[in-house]
Amino acid sequence: MLSVNGLCKSFGTHKVLDGVNLTLNPGEVVSVLGASGSGKSTLIRCINGLETFEAGSITVDGFDVAKPKELAEARRRSATVFQQFNLYPHMTAVENIALAPVEVLKRPKAEVIAEARALLDRVGLAHRADAYPAQLSGGQRQRVGICRALAMQPRYLLLDEVTSALDPEMTAEVLDILKVLATTGTTMLFVTHEIAFARSISHRIVFLEKGELIADMPTADFFSDRGRSLPRVARFLSKLQ
Ligand code: ATP
Ligand code: MG
Repeated sequence: MLSVNGLCKSFGTHKVLDGVNLTLNPGEVVSVLGASGSGKSTLIRCINGLETFEAGSITVDGFDVAKPKELAEARRRSATVFQQFNLYPHMTAVENIALAPVEVLKRPKAEVIAEARALLDRVGLAHRADAYPAQLSGGQRQRVGICRALAMQPRYLLLDEVTSALDPEMTAEVLDILKVLATTGTTMLFVTHEIAFARSISHRIVFLEKGELIADMPTADFFSDRGRSLPRVARFLSKLQ
């Protein structure tokens, strides 16, 4: 289980996360919604150990992100895909995917390359395996980014606005892949502005407003009268369309 308890994070005097509690169980797809600036990316960065925090705790399968000796184990269990693809430009798609399993997990290269090609096949990119990032479209690059995360065989896949740099057609390509992952049991924490898509794939929706997690409920409830009974959720949903 990935567990966030009472997480508080400030930048200077600005409190960005205020007592956030969240759990992600194996097999669950949970979407994190909230307005721009509500703290979604900061939450993901804290889970990754990329930000320190003042109060609360984060554990990944029991490993405490705030304990230097446990951070590596915690990180190994989750993988994050960000909005920007961050692929190495001098490496091909397959090399980008194989890098961390070989370098970090010390796995045999031939085996990892074969797996990387199989992952590219799964996302419809077998024919682009030997292309460099500059030779790929944005949607293709993001699909390589997802393969790179999956190659680490994470128990938890964290996705932060993975489609927001893409045009609608490329967004659809990437969302199709995520839909397959969601329906085949991949555990995902999915930060998104794609509300309709989040609704279609998520077991639960959590809603952040100004750093406070003010709703955590089954998807159907969030989009029903129960969610709308929370004025801030109702306001958020009424602005969509
Ligand atoms: P968006 O939907 O636009 O991606 P978000 O919900 O991901 O927004 P965050 O990026 O987590 O929001 O930012 C939350 C708040 O923290 C914002 O007010 C932001 O300006 C502030 N913030 C984020 N990173 C830093 C930083 N490194 N230094 C200072 N303030 C920061
Ligand atoms: Mg963000």
